Amino acid sequence: MKGSNIRNFVIISHIDHGKSTLADRFLEITGAISPKKMRPQFLDMMDLERERGITIKLKPVRMEAEILGERYILNLVDTPGHVDFSYEVSRSLAAVEGAVLLVDASKGIQAQTLANLDLAKKQNLVIIPVVNKIDMLQADVEKSTDELAQLLEIEKSDILKISGKLGTNVAKVLEEVAKKVPGPLQENAEKPFRALIFDSEYDPYQGVVAYVRVIDGEIKSGEKIKLFAAKARAEAKEVGYFKPQMEKQDKISAGEIGYIATGIKEPGLVRVGDTIMKESQSQGILPLPGYREAKPMVFASFYPENPDDFEVLKDALSKLKLNDPALIYEQETKEALGRGFRCGFLGTLHAEIVSERLHREFGLDLVISTPSVVYRIIDQKDKESYIYAATDWPDPSKIKETYEPLVSLEIITPVEYIGGVSDVLKNFRVVYKDTNYLSFERAILIYEAPLADIITNLYDKLKGVSKGYASMNYKVLGYRKSKLVKMEILIAGGKEEALSRIVPEERAFQEGKNLVTKLKETLPSQQFSVALQALVGGKVIARETIRAQRKDVTGYLYGGDYSRKRKLLEKQKKGKKLLKEKGRVRVPPKVFLEVFRG
Ligand code: GDP
Ligand code: MG
Repeated sequence: MKGSNIRNFVIISHIDHGKSTLADRFLEITGAISPKKMRPQFLDMMDLERERGITIKLKPVRMEAEILGERYILNLVDTPGHVDFSYEVSRSLAAVEGAVLLVDASKGIQAQTLANLDLAKKQNLVIIPVVNKIDMLQADVEKSTDELAQLLEIEKSDILKISGKLGTNVAKVLEEVAKKVPGPLQENAEKPFRALIFDSEYDPYQGVVAYVRVIDGEIKSGEKIKLFAAKARAEAKEVGYFKPQMEKQDKISAGEIGYIATGIKEPGLVRVGDTIMKESQSQGILPLPGYREAKPMVFASFYPENPDDFEVLKDALSKLKLNDPALIYEQETKEALGRGFRCGFLGTLHAEIVSERLHREFGLDLVISTPSVVYRIIDQKDKESYIYAATDWPDPSKIKETYEPLVSLEIITPVEYIGGVSDVLKNFRVVYKDTNYLSFERAILIYEAPLADIITNLYDKLKGVSKGYASMNYKVLGYRKSKLVKMEILIAGGKEEALSRIVPEERAFQEGKNLVTKLKETLPSQQFSVALQALVGGKVIARETIRAQRKDVTGYLYGGDYSRKRKLLEKQKKGKKLLKEKGRVRVPPKVFLEVFRG
């Protein structure tokens, strides 16, 4: 049983600890990217990723290098760090044998360091521990190394200290990868072909392109394939590697990471976690263990602004899902909004990114309902139901009990910010549970909290009071009873269904006030004044007014031609009345998510 010279590995860490930058250095050292083409965070290829400075998509790249006198093929998968994209991480982990775990020496261990390490351990990956950013003035290399050694129960001397930015000791990381990460078993090359789909995308010419880790055997372009779960047959129109752009090859083989263009035009047929086999060898072959489906935490309804775009939206969602399998969606129709989709997301950033991608990649403008967790209701007849959107909230007279999802919230913070963190939490419905210590200077605070509270802006607030040091993670515990009510929003007297939301009764006044204030700030002013009202149970609990933006229609008149001036003003008044009668103030798509963020 000999291992091959292939090394498949990921880089994992908390967000911003330097994964994509370290990947840049690997691309340079191995000559995968010429210096002329190099740019920072090269693998963050989406415009959205570059603008926001975050990685959203996993990204595979194949490199070759001579390490300690031997030739290696290095298949790296760069991963996102934000908790909302953790499905990208878990899928990447199933395609590799090792993980470089990065810790930013200026920040130390943070919440997603722990969460992603846990995922990697569950996959039995070899962990290469690395402390990064040692060049930074604020870096505390000793402390970070101590913490990491303690966490992994290893010697401090086993931890590499590097600067991904300057390149210090980066070559050593590749040496460790070559030495410690096991190569895929060579004997698997003789077995019938099996490949795990870990990602995919839609190409107008090639159809669905599956990103695969080949487990057994090999496949050549032109061979007939079968997708196990989907029971679909197709042809491997093209196979190849990620360099990181797709590069055509004659075949891809056991142990390698690459792609198979399937020609399949129906996006729903190709699912991550499914096994690709060869049609000629599929008899009696067992599928690979796939993935657990992502479990959506937050739901929001997407409606095309222009109802004629419904089919476009439908098609766009199916194509986007190929590239973002954590997204789930289901068609729905609502009286006030028309035909659209109820979509499930891993968090609110995920919802925001999906809406932005639908806009950029498919040219869609959307009306988005306020993101919501899933509530549980027991009605007066003791019937149980789950509510995904405030619009579906039943009349209060029909409700007996209301429940909301509860999470265990874990906040990691340097001890000096515990006071600040506690202050922030006073505005959230949390219950303190416990404190653990990662080291003398860093604490893990454990709370119970309603999921609805922590998916809004808690994370930003925590970062705000801790100079970016505090971080959080959460696990859903189940449902707990809670007194909840539906809050409705009227704009210029018209109900804006998409802005309705469920709030805890004791916070309704505060939430109502916050919401109308935020709306006042974000809605563009109109030619007439606009009343903004928040209602609970039909009663107004908060109101604001956006004052009319009075266009100076008389500006070009000079002198004292008063009658003409009056005529113009009259005309303007009439126009306003007309506009008002026509009624609706258009809520720009951006406002929906901005208002939600609070
Ligand atoms: P990722 O979210 O883990 O992929 O992190 P990025 O690679 O996008 O880096 C986040 C930020 O840290 C960027 O501004 C990088 O320039 C910076 N950074 C990454 N590595 C280093 C390093 O070794 N030293 C310093 N000083 N900055 C770094
Ligand atoms: Mg990154």
